Formats: sequence, C-alpha cells, structure tokens
Amino acid sequence: MSQAQHPGRSHEGPRADAFSAVSRRSVLTGVAGLCALLAWPRVDEALHPGGPGHETDSPALRRDVDPHGITRVRTSRPWVALTFDDGPDPRWTPGVLDVLRAYGCRATFFAVGSNVEAHPDLARRIVAEGHRLSNHTHDHLWLDRIEAAAVADQLTRGRAAVMAHDPAGGELVRPPRGWTSRTVARCTSDLGLRSVFWTACLESALHDGPFAAGTEVGEGLRAGDVLLAHDGGRVVGANPQDIDRSGTLAALPSLLESLRRRGLLGVPVQDLVAAGTPH
Ligand SMILES: [Zn+2]
Repeated sequence: MSQAQHPGRSHEGPRADAFSAVSRRSVLTGVAGLCALLAWPRVDEALHPGGPGHETDSPALRRDVDPHGITRVRTSRPWVALTFDDGPDPRWTPGVLDVLRAYGCRATFFAVGSNVEAHPDLARRIVAEGHRLSNHTHDHLWLDRIEAAAVADQLTRGRAAVMAHDPAGGELVRPPRGWTSRTVARCTSDLGLRSVFWTACLESALHDGPFAAGTEVGEGLRAGDVLLAHDGGRVVGANPQDIDRSGTLAALPSLLESLRRRGLLGVPVQDLVAAGTPH
C-alpha cells in the first residue's frame, strides 16, 4: 500500500509528504526515540557514554542496516500483527492474555529467554491459548553494543528458550529496543533468523491516558501494520528494568475495540507474514 492510502497514520501521513527526505527522517527519528524513552524510562546512560547515539533509532535507519527485517507487511487481509515484548511477567502477562481472549485476537510474544525460564507456566499458557512465542534475546542486551560472538550467544540461547515451548517460534527475533547494526543483521541471517521491528508503539501514546492512547493507536493502524506493546516490565541482568505496565494493560481494550469497529483482526506476526509480502 502506498502512503497516500494511510490518511490517518501519524508516522507516515500526508503531512509528511510535504517534508523533504531529511525532514522526514528527523520526524521518524523523533517519534521512534520518543517511543523508546516512554517504553523504557530507565535508559542507562552509563552504557552510552557521550549520549544515546544508537545507530538504528528509526524505521528508516533500521531498514538501512537490516533490509531483510520486517517493519510491516503488504497484504490484502484485514490483519494487524500484535506483538508484546519483555515478558513473560506474572504481573501483566495474564491480564494481557485475558484481554486478547475477550476480543478473539492472537499475538506474538517476543519473550526474554531468562523470563521464559523463570515463568514456564506463563510460556505454556501463551502457547496453549493460540499465541506464538518468539525470540527477544536471552538477557535483553543491546545487541548493537556487543561483539558478534555475544550477539550469536544471545540469539541462540533466546531461541532455545522459546522453542522449548513453541518449537516453530524460533525463526523470528526482535532486537531489544529495535537497536541493530550490520553485524547484528549478519548474525541474524547466519542463524537463519529474521528481525521484526514495528510500525506503531502503544506506549508512545500513553501520556494521553490509557483510553485515549488505545483509541488513538488503534485508529492509526492499517492492515499489514505491526503493533509493538509490552507485557513484561521486569528484566534482570546487565540492563535491568522494572516498569509498570498497568497503562498498557488498561489501554489494550480500547485499542482492540477500535480494530474490531474497523473490521481489523489482531494476529501473530507469523500469520501476517505468511499472508503477504513483508517489507
Ligand atoms: Zn524489550
């Protein structure tokens, strides 16, 4: 679909058409950066001396370094991929699963391997209810800041953790925060994996309150888009985080209501990829 067919989307709407390529990239970088800050408020600046400076803080930059990565899917099906990162987490994952079931939607959970190992009961429930588990690395490390051997280790151990519960779920990976590099892209490809990024982020709109956020993000989604949200708040290890996801959980019903009203169905990203052409 061309951008002209997406009059409502905030990332790539008609207003953006008037921008130069440089301005457009600045806007995309700003929106993606805002999403990263809101979704992960405890950015550890000590890891980024001299500022954040990650190479791939925007969809355009991610495409540059990883052209095989998936940001959205060209499809004739009225489907949107729902993806949830950083779980499983006993505080939020059960509630997310309850809401998905109430709306008849399925999703892909990009789970942190160490969280899968800590909460195998939740991993089993995710799969038993028809969702997919996929790889969000074993320890949620910033892949663009570690050596290739460590990248491969994170991808391999994260894949093993999710495949213990979803044997076919190991083909897709979401680099933490979407931060990738040519080295990460090469490691991913060498292991037969494919990275999945996103077109819209629920947490980026939570400053307006959960109901408004769910409605705003839901109204902006178009068939073939990939939604990023989070069912996990706690991650231990080198990049620890402990984030309250109650806003995400509260926003989810209005988002799924918006999709239902517009005839769109939430599906795992694997189903969307199989029904169209990823790009
Ligand atoms: Zn994450």
